[in-house]
Amino acid sequence: MQAPLNPSSDTPSPADPATASRIRIVLVGTQHPGNIGSAARAIKTMGLSRLVLVAPQKFPHNEADMMAAGADDVLAAAVEVDALADAVADCRLVLGCTARSRRVQLRELDPRTAAASARVEAEAGGEVALVFGRERTGLENAELQLCHAAVHIPANPDYSSLNLAAAVQVLAYEVRMALLGAATVAATTAPMADAAPHAELEGFFAQLADTLDAIDFHKGRTPDSAMRKLRRLFVRTGLDSQEIRLLRGVLADAQRMARLAGRDAG
Ligand code: SAH
Repeated sequence: MQAPLNPSSDTPSPADPATASRIRIVLVGTQHPGNIGSAARAIKTMGLSRLVLVAPQKFPHNEADMMAAGADDVLAAAVEVDALADAVADCRLVLGCTARSRRVQLRELDPRTAAASARVEAEAGGEVALVFGRERTGLENAELQLCHAAVHIPANPDYSSLNLAAAVQVLAYEVRMALLGAATVAATTAPMADAAPHAELEGFFAQLADTLDAIDFHKGRTPDSAMRKLRRLFVRTGLDSQEIRLLRGVLADAQRMARLAGRDAG
């Protein structure tokens, strides 16, 4: 006897809704308010709801409301902040979406792998951000530096820049598929559930930069390239809060010794 077809079983049910609620979409410096509305609609259709706007040029705006259609709840709940670092301060995984492969010292993921990593991280209780840049100029290099990895939609290499809301749609769809899929997903990263929140890592990097100056590590060269490589190294290791405290203790002593040496010399 054949089992009766059960149409409802054809539609897989998404992972725990709490997992989706840990994934936020961050739009940086959006120029056209219509794109903010379209992005809200794009993420709501895929079961996501958290929109963070970093210094939008025009918001709130009737074009955003118009394009959001039925996603006005997502728009109404959108959080506005001044800088990307504030938007991702509590995140354990920050993925920056970019239309071009730039010479940033960042691992590059395709959207499917990125979405799988987002699921693994969010399921382990970590906050995750997918970050999108400005329509005209994308994300600045300094903003990409705040990300753990870059995500590139492998579009036509001769015409690779998608409309902002279209790019959001592609990523949100991949996140949806990852959440609907089997629990064993092809994530390249183990969950970084023990990893320190982003703000702690940034505090460490700031002190590291100060310390390198204090010990004259750069010797007249610009610090950018060394800092990029060091950031990449430490981001890859997924430092936890205790390890950051230890490293900051080491830096504090190096800074103290540099001050003493300066006093002796002076
Ligand atoms: N001229 C800009 C394009 C910005 S498009 C540039 O070269 O960077 C606006 C945003 O949409 C981008 O910052 C990025 O977040 C996203 N986006 C557009 N096309 C993309 C692609 N192929 N892969 C990943 N993100 C993309």
